[in-house]
Amino acid sequence: MTRPPLPAPPHRGGCLCGAVRFAYAARPLGLNACHCMDCKKLSGADAFHVLMGERAALVHESGELTRWRKRADSGREVDIVRCAACGVRLWHEPVSAPTFAFICAGALDDSSWFVPSSHIWVEKAGASFTPAPDALLVEGQPPDRAALFAAFDRLYPP
Ligand SMILES: [Zn+2]
Ligand SMILES: [Zn+2]
Repeated sequence: MTRPPLPAPPHRGGCLCGAVRFAYAARPLGLNACHCMDCKKLSGADAFHVLMGERAALVHESGELTRWRKRADSGREVDIVRCAACGVRLWHEPVSAPTFAFICAGALDDSSWFVPSSHIWVEKAGASFTPAPDALLVEGQPPDRAALFAAFDRLYPP
């Protein structure tokens, strides 16, 4: 498998009804897939694909947002940001890590290039799980995000 090149920023996106528009204007920090049970519920799919980014580079351009604070069993909290009109999930803002924003890959206008550089909670992955052979695979939650960022930089040299 050949990884498509990263498109040049900004990465633009929005919700389904068109009210919310946003742009992410920096290099991603990681392209992660999470296979945990919470992410299956949240995405309504069998995994959650997310562009891990810098919150300062995420610009909310239009549309009213709603937030819901999810608390994990670990105590970790994250604000899940959606369009107030159509409910599409757009990005996550981890409460304990305010410099990060995790943008839902499916909310991008073009996610055709998105191949996860890392997968976490792989032991919960569904039967159709077929990671790219060069992706980092992690059981459970990594102790910190540095390993995910390092895997991304290895696959997409800065
Ligand atoms: Zn909407
Ligand atoms: Zn998850």
